Amino acid sequence: MKRQLHGGACGDSCCLKLNQVSVKIGSDSILKDVTMHVHCGEMVALIGPNGAGKSTILKAILGQRDYEGVITFSAPGMRHRKMPRIGYVPQSPAFDPGDPVTVADLFACCQSRFPAFLGITREHRELVLECLDRVHGKDLIDKRVGTLSGGELQRVLLALALEPLPNILILDEPLSGVDVEGMETLMEMLDEIRRTYDLSILMTTHDFAMLPRYADQVVLIDHRVLKQGQPEDVLDSPEFRQVFHRKGGV
Ligand code: ADP
Ligand code: MG
Repeated sequence: MKRQLHGGACGDSCCLKLNQVSVKIGSDSILKDVTMHVHCGEMVALIGPNGAGKSTILKAILGQRDYEGVITFSAPGMRHRKMPRIGYVPQSPAFDPGDPVTVADLFACCQSRFPAFLGITREHRELVLECLDRVHGKDLIDKRVGTLSGGELQRVLLALALEPLPNILILDEPLSGVDVEGMETLMEMLDEIRRTYDLSILMTTHDFAMLPRYADQVVLIDHRVLKQGQPEDVLDSPEFRQVFHRKGGV
């Protein structure tokens, strides 16, 4: 279910704005004058060919990449904080199937002050189960991370990104390595999470078929913004055809 777009300004409610954001790495111009707006509660998909600068935009928003221009975020309750709480799901990290690290261990590494080899307390295990419940994944707690399917791993990473609950959720290619059925499950889950916790979501993807159903807005970039708007308008645009025809696909 797609969110109604705000009519005009969204006042002081939660939103993310990029105004003329440019990134250079060395002498290479990676992004040029990117202006885009993630409205409160929207799901926005960032698309473009490989090397277009999608991950670079996410890193600039996360504060991991220097940029020129202005990035602003406003959300209720963040008047006294400079930065919003951002939940970030990186592009699927690789785990060795032989690696003994379990999902519980992974949460312990990320959330506990103590070394993971000490195990987790009963209280922490309860918290991990609550986190996994948000992605309908309580049954995954004792599985080895390296043996999870692509979809299961994304759900675990999503559960990690949702604790503590963020103002905005940023996902870098969450659908890559996930089978078609898993993609549908994940998109439904993201949609449910967005509505339950009133989050804005910004994600990069190459899976365009999902966009008309789930995204409020699509931004097509190739080092600069080529087209943005409603999914159907962007996917039917000459800019979209030109970029993917020229590059011979994604
Ligand atoms: P996308 O996510 O759209 O595939 P990226 O944002 O990862 O693209 O990369 C955009 C461009 O920036 C690519 O040409 C890539 O080689 C370059 N790039 C990304 N990170 C670095 C880096 N740390 N050093 C040099 N070039 C980089
Ligand atoms: Mg990328």
